[in-house]
Amino acid sequence: EATVAAAEAAQGALNCFTSIDGERAVEMARASDARLAKGEGGALEGVPVAIKDLFAVKGVETTASSNILKGFKPEYESTVTQNLWDAGAVFFAKTSMDEFAMGSSNETAATGPVVNPWRAKGSEAKLTPGGSSGGSAAALAAGISYGATGTDTGGSIRQPAAFTGLVGVKPTYGRCSRWGVVAFASSLDHPGPFAKTVKDAALLTQVMAGHDPKDSTSYPGAVPDFAASAGRSVKGLRIGIPKEYRVDGMPGEIETLWRQGAKWLEEQGAEIVDISLPMTKYALPAYYIIAPAEASSNLARYDGIRYGARVEGADLIDTYEKTRAAGFGLEVQRRIMIGTYVLSAGYYDAYYLKALKVRRRIYEDFTAAFGQVDAILTPATPSAAFEIGSKAKADPIEMYLNDIFTVTANIAGIPAMSVPAGLDKSGLPLGLQVIAPALEEETMFAVAGAIE
Ligand code: GLN
Repeated sequence: EATVAAAEAAQGALNCFTSIDGERAVEMARASDARLAKGEGGALEGVPVAIKDLFAVKGVETTASSNILKGFKPEYESTVTQNLWDAGAVFFAKTSMDEFAMGSSNETAATGPVVNPWRAKGSEAKLTPGGSSGGSAAALAAGISYGATGTDTGGSIRQPAAFTGLVGVKPTYGRCSRWGVVAFASSLDHPGPFAKTVKDAALLTQVMAGHDPKDSTSYPGAVPDFAASAGRSVKGLRIGIPKEYRVDGMPGEIETLWRQGAKWLEEQGAEIVDISLPMTKYALPAYYIIAPAEASSNLARYDGIRYGARVEGADLIDTYEKTRAAGFGLEVQRRIMIGTYVLSAGYYDAYYLKALKVRRRIYEDFTAAFGQVDAILTPATPSAAFEIGSKAKADPIEMYLNDIFTVTANIAGIPAMSVPAGLDKSGLPLGLQVIAPALEEETMFAVAGAIE
């Protein structure tokens, strides 16, 4: 009840929820109490967890923050949320996001921008919480929830976590099932958690993960005890510092923090190694071809007939066109146009196929690097949280550039997380990113725990 009241009280200022369900929350919390009274209970018994509005929660409106899905109430539960409820977590709200998870500032949500609870020192300017999982980040940073889910296709968990002083985890591709999660770019989509500490984040990852026969790309192996790895020593680990992540225009204090992070690890017995990931500069262009290509295909299903909102036209084709014109926002329409263009007969080889080759090379970069080191340390983002409206109006490329450090791990499918590491001179949080080899989340949590 306290969580629901806090959510309702904060909604006016933060706009971080797409819906709040007090009745279901209290019902689930009572059931949890009853289990605890009987001496039963799971790892998250009674813990309220906010759910990004991309996850299907049975009977609860699931919109992906898009007008085209208005009124869509799935008849099924996503595997990740089911895993959370099975561990005793309590549902209380769906959180806002960039429409269909496309964006880095939560400004493309059909319900309007989400406000970051943080403010720069001496300023009342409203900042974005990052995106696309901005609502989850804001709700957790404001102290309303204890954990939250997100999805990360090109940084959408790690960047909002960095902008709000939280821990954000993108596990290995396939660790957390995509079943029941509205698809953006299927080969890049990774469900994962937000939490306040590395240990909480590890525990949430552990609960959310696991093999799911309903997702053909789900990893079939067992889930290790991630929570235990969060406190593990980093002594003897080799940590790579990739020189290609020193990009032009990055504030000096991010560079300083990065060096500081390496020093903290060194002080705890890790060895710092300079490495090179030469294909890094091609990651953003490759991502912004592959992601829209897959999105244009995934979003073909929203035709006004099967799901959500419909605008009646003169005939079927006219209904499709009117529904999609009214239902999709501008950024989503831009992605569909880019995607259909790069997949079209004349351009497939030049763009899409080329991007797939670059993807392979980026993967090989990481494979080579992980021959030398156990984990990689980089900044999570090239800036702290920025003002609402400051980038959205500019060239879309400017917004895309904010993903420069995060997209590489999605392209390679390897685990990466953001951990709060300090504040900039205006008092805003900054995050460092830890990247590990596929299925080596335990190393990642150990390194993040040593920085925290
Ligand atoms: N900002 C990136 C994009 O707009 C990534 C989004 C995401 O990870 N869902 O595509």
